[in-house]
Amino acid sequence: MSTLYLLQPDCLDAAASWISDVRDDDTLFMTEFDRFVAGPDWHIQRVILYLSAMRRFRARLENRLSDSDAEFVYEEIGSNEEAKEAGTSDPSDRLLSRLEASDPPARIATVRPASHEALSRIRNLADDVGAEFELLPDARFLCTLDEFGAWREGRKRLVMEYFYREMRKKTGLMMEPEGPAGGEWNFDDRNRRSVPDDEAVSAPEFGVSPTDEVTTEVLDRVGAWFPSNPGSAERFDWPTGPQQAEKALRSFVGDRLAKFGPYQDALHTASGRLFHSGLATSINLGLLDPLDACSAVEEAWRDGRVPISSAEGFIRQVIGWREFMRGVYWTEGADFMELNALDAGRDLPASFWTAETDMACVRHVVSGLLETGYAHHIQRLMVTGLLAMLHGTRPQTVHDWYMHLYADSAEWVTAPNTIGMSQFADGGVVGTKPYAASGKY
Ligand SMILES: Cc1cc2nc3c(=O)[nH]c(=O)nc-3n(C[C@H](O)[C@H](O)[C@H](O)COP(=O)(O)OP(=O)(O)OC[C@H]3O[C@@H](n4cnc5c(N)ncnc54)[C@H](O)[C@@H]3O)c2cc1C
Repeated sequence: MSTLYLLQPDCLDAAASWISDVRDDDTLFMTEFDRFVAGPDWHIQRVILYLSAMRRFRARLENRLSDSDAEFVYEEIGSNEEAKEAGTSDPSDRLLSRLEASDPPARIATVRPASHEALSRIRNLADDVGAEFELLPDARFLCTLDEFGAWREGRKRLVMEYFYREMRKKTGLMMEPEGPAGGEWNFDDRNRRSVPDDEAVSAPEFGVSPTDEVTTEVLDRVGAWFPSNPGSAERFDWPTGPQQAEKALRSFVGDRLAKFGPYQDALHTASGRLFHSGLATSINLGLLDPLDACSAVEEAWRDGRVPISSAEGFIRQVIGWREFMRGVYWTEGADFMELNALDAGRDLPASFWTAETDMACVRHVVSGLLETGYAHHIQRLMVTGLLAMLHGTRPQTVHDWYMHLYADSAEWVTAPNTIGMSQFADGGVVGTKPYAASGKY
């Protein structure tokens, strides 16, 4: 029984357990011709990140499969025409046209893709060719959707804090035999400081230089392929492989983690990165294991290198918020994408694309975003998200903007954060109240 593995562009873990099950008569298919990978509307850094990270993954996977006769088909963009075609392509359609020319597989297997729409397209494809459909295990997440479904069953309100406590117990992170380390589950009350004037703030590098060969080649060519995309490629520094991601983790833990906690909610004009980790791209793409990242952070606290509030704060974001948002997205169903509880219908202000505005905080966040493909959580929530909501912007328009301009975007995480947390379009599934505030939130 042959299996066709449809490889997702955002799951680049070449150490995945399922790869050991690939047999000689199986086929693996991966394509850059995917409108969620490339196209004219994406921040150019997100395009570079995806193409580079996917190409480097291909090399690691080929290496892992070197003793296998399985066929690995990888479709690569190589010209301006192909770059245009990629922006309107869907991987399932491309796969279907390939399958029409060959014997259909008995089984189609994939990790869960990034959106409801992509998942239903693959299921339909399997139906169309009469193949069984299977979802593969995915080490990017620590809570299965069955576990999340069981946790949310019968609850009137979904309170992230309670979910987080279960995740602490499940992973054993920052746990002592008698309960949570330090005697409390949450040290957030220590994490709300403004950055004092005499605190040294510089813009950290998230990735590592010098850039590897594959990324350098993509950087050289992408300007011709995608000449009018938003954003600048100049300061590209995202990790595109696991070793770089590991290095980025070490530099975060060594240089910024101690101040991550206290200044987690702060805004500062000297840097859009402040003391944040910049690890979301690496964790979301499967370049960095979330448990490894949290364990390194816990170790730094146990060794006395960082305060408990920093370590607990980071771990809560990763095993709490990240897993919670994913659980909400998948268990709410595809209708979540259409919610509009506040009945908002306007377009975004033009300044969201140009950074041209008299509002200094918006100018700072949007110009930093265009330069780097990044803004930290409070900038996303309390500057652009807040303004978009007060402006009465249609939540789906807001979601599209975050999807296209952030290097770490993927629908399963962008949607619950925008439609839910930021725009309150879900009427209170993700949060208890809208994040509406003045400058002194
Ligand atoms: C409107 C809005 C849109 C967002 N869109 C995205 C998105 O497209 N992709 C994305 O990964 N995150 C998104 N977030 C969540 C969060 O802002 C980012 O994960 C974080 O800013 C990424 O930067 P960092 O890696 O420096 O995170 P840090 O501040 O260093 O936090 C550590 C890690 O915790 C996780 N995390 C923290 N908060 C959240 C959260 N609310 N949801 C999920 N994971 C979280 C991330 O993996 C992050 O890397 C969004 C938040 C808002 C308010």
